[in-house]
Amino acid sequence: MIGQGSGNSNKSCCLYRAPWVVPVSSPVLQDGAVVVDDNRIIAVGPYHELARRFPQLPLVSCRGVLLPALVNAHIHLELSILGSVHPDSPNSSMCDWISALLQKRLAANLSKEDIEVAAAKTVIDQYASGVGLMLDIGNQSLQRRDATPIEIISLLEMLAPSQKAQQAVIASFADLPNDISVTGHSPYSTGPDLLKFIKERCRQQETIFSFHLAENEDEALLLIHGEGCFVNFLKQRGAWDKTYPVQGIDSRGVVGYLEDLNLLDAETLCVHCVHLTDEEIRVVAGAGAHICLCPGSNRFLSVGTAPLGKILAAGVLPALGTDSIASNTVLDLWQEMCILRQEHPNVDSASILAMATLGGAMALHREADYGSLAPNRSASFLHIQGKEYEGVGDTRQLLDRLVSCGRPESISRVQAEL
Ligand SMILES: [Zn+2]
Repeated sequence: MIGQGSGNSNKSCCLYRAPWVVPVSSPVLQDGAVVVDDNRIIAVGPYHELARRFPQLPLVSCRGVLLPALVNAHIHLELSILGSVHPDSPNSSMCDWISALLQKRLAANLSKEDIEVAAAKTVIDQYASGVGLMLDIGNQSLQRRDATPIEIISLLEMLAPSQKAQQAVIASFADLPNDISVTGHSPYSTGPDLLKFIKERCRQQETIFSFHLAENEDEALLLIHGEGCFVNFLKQRGAWDKTYPVQGIDSRGVVGYLEDLNLLDAETLCVHCVHLTDEEIRVVAGAGAHICLCPGSNRFLSVGTAPLGKILAAGVLPALGTDSIASNTVLDLWQEMCILRQEHPNVDSASILAMATLGGAMALHREADYGSLAPNRSASFLHIQGKEYEGVGDTRQLLDRLVSCGRPESISRVQAEL
């Protein structure tokens, strides 16, 4: 940035001018500007308009693109220490991958300190990549991360597929501090009684209920027919009882089952959603529930490609998540956008960028602060630069490059440079 102060010594209030401003919630501005006061955005618009409205403010000229911080709506920081987990065979199922993950975690004999250190490194890299807000899910309570540069919403994830295990976990809630937010893992690993119990706690505490849904085809096979790879997996772990197949599950499939359990509402975040039927998408959308896609993880595990076009057509703007490094090659939302760009050529680039910003903010109910450049939003937005953004001709070309060129050469925070 090149400061061009006009003599006003109040450095916390500035007018930022850039060749491109991408508010996400409103049209892209060429030669745009953003006015910031302390930690909030005051105004966004064409430079010449804002320069007339705020003639007294110091001007900061930016060379690149201004856009909101990214929102990573699904990550497991506690798995950072494991690195990518590859099952033995290229033809292995998702159950094989889960087994390999559990074995690696057991064999590594990790201390809590080791896990914390690796998680902290991931947070720093997420911040460097432009993430401002994330939803982290783990099986143990790690230290609070209030001092980290990213705002992190942490959920403690409960798994219990058998009746016995469900009742034991429900009993354990009596000793659980109220300030620990809890969620389930998935319909195949967290039984119906426990899912209902957790969702009711989420409603009382007004917290997000997030779980893995329709990540692979074996999930529906287990719930509807009591078949598929999860049967052996649960048997091997001594967790097989009469819980699955679920009695009374109807032709609406897994999503209908969740609807019957009263789990779907605006505070529910369904992660992955690779194998949803058209009817299931309609039910999720009708309930006002949110969806988070993790295309890098889906590719890594070869579980398929989520029906993004149909989800958007149903009126749902999904969020985007990296999932953990155990099921991905890199934790980078720029890379996730690239994968979406490749896999969904008919989806416009503006929607893909909106997923990584506004979609995540909406899913986490933080759109008043994150996800767009608009009055009252956080001033901690991004200024990105790179050769790919020099000489851009029009809005469409800019948006295409934002979602297809990967992590920019330079990512900085406007607020941090005040
Ligand atoms: Zn996950």
